[in-house]
This record gives sequence, C-alpha cells and structure tokens, in this order.
Amino acid sequence: MGFALVLLLGVVFGSFANVIIHRVPAGVSISTPRSSCPNCGVQIAAKDNVPLISWILLRGKCRFCAVPISIRYPLVEIGLGAIFLFSALTIGFSAALPGILVTDLVGLAAAAIDLESRRIPNRLTLWGGVGVATAFVAASLLTGHVLMLYYSFIGGAIGFGFPFLIAVLSRGGMGMGDAKLSLVLGLAVGILGPKYLFYFFLLTFGFGSLFGVGMMVARKLSRKDSLAFGPFLYAGFLSVQLVWHLLASGRA
Ligand SMILES: [Zn+2]
Repeated sequence: MGFALVLLLGVVFGSFANVIIHRVPAGVSISTPRSSCPNCGVQIAAKDNVPLISWILLRGKCRFCAVPISIRYPLVEIGLGAIFLFSALTIGFSAALPGILVTDLVGLAAAAIDLESRRIPNRLTLWGGVGVATAFVAASLLTGHVLMLYYSFIGGAIGFGFPFLIAVLSRGGMGMGDAKLSLVLGLAVGILGPKYLFYFFLLTFGFGSLFGVGMMVARKLSRKDSLAFGPFLYAGFLSVQLVWHLLASGRA
C-alpha cells in the first residue's frame, strides 16, 4: 500500500517536474498560466492533463490539432514514479524519506535541463535547496534528531565545496551550476551519513569518467568537449541510496 502510494506520488510529481523542465530555463512562472499546446495554443483542460493517463488516452497527440506530444512527458512521469519507489525501497519509510524524495525531484529536473541546455538554472537549485532543507528541518524537529540536521549541513558544505574547488582548478571543466546542484544533493547525502559523501563523489566521477572514455573511444567526443555533468551527479545520488541500503540500513 505504502509503496503503491509512493509510486503514484512520483508520477504526479513527475508531471510537476515536466513543468519545471519546460518553464524554468525559459524564466517563465511555473504556476500561471495553465499549460497550453505549443502548436495550436489551446489551453490543456484538466481532464487532458492527468499524468500518464491523459497521454495514453490521447495516444500522444493534442486533442485539438493532433500534433504529437513528446514522449518525454510520460517518460519523466513514469521515471520519477520509479525513482520514488526506488528511494522508498532503499531508504525505507523513515523521517528522512520526504526530503530524499524532494531531492529526487529537483535532481531529475536539473539533470534533464542540463542535458538539454548545458546549464542548471539558479532558480531551480535555490528553490530546490530551500525545499530539501525545509523537509530535513521538519524531519529533525519531528524526531528530535538534531545530529541529522548537522550531517545534512556538512553534506551541503562538502557537496558544494568539492566541485567548487574542481571548477576553480579546472577553469570551466565543471560549472558553478554543477556545484550548486551538488550542494542540494549533498544535503540529502549528508542525511545518510557523512561518509556517504565519499561514495557519492566516487560514483559520480566514476560514471562521468566511464562515459567520457567511452565516448572518446567511440570518437564522439574529443578531449576538449565539455560534458553536461548534472546527469552524473544525479546518477551518483541515486546510486548512493543503494549503497546506503546495502551497507547501513540493517544496522541503522
Ligand atoms: Zn494543439
């Protein structure tokens, strides 16, 4: 029951992630106006805006002009549903879970925007960070577990500091947007325990290096090309949840 609810919640928040991915890079409000078809401009009615279901019922086309609606929308929705489920399975239903789920959402939106436009908007990392921090402050107040908040703070500081240092030393190999996203993800990694920051960066840079070497071997990338790093940070963040599950959950 709990897991089904988390899956459903993920699909619904996936719909919100689509709004963020679509509007935040353009600097448009995420609350108004209501979504409309990018082709014919007709506002999308509530019944045609149900996550996943509407896309399937409309067979991926606008009701009015029949222009195809990108498969990215249902993919993001089902993707975040699966990610929420994954977090619930690895982290368990603890006080930390809501904040982890918020981080899942912010990270997915950031990774998608970074893939598309090679940047991570400040508006996303700022409000995402506020959302994640609020969830963890609430969790720590509810459980009286103050140490958890302290770990989260350390996570945010190291999460920002390490990539910031690399950004400064590498002069553009990594951007400030990456460091800010890493701060937000670090808040959540810190909750799992400070040592998981080590696994987080190990996995993130591991994935990034593997991908980079793979692309160079395939000659799709030269040494000078830059990679969008947000997706690797996000992959590192998701993987560290599994690492935590394997190493700590039984003893926590
Ligand atoms: Zn249309």
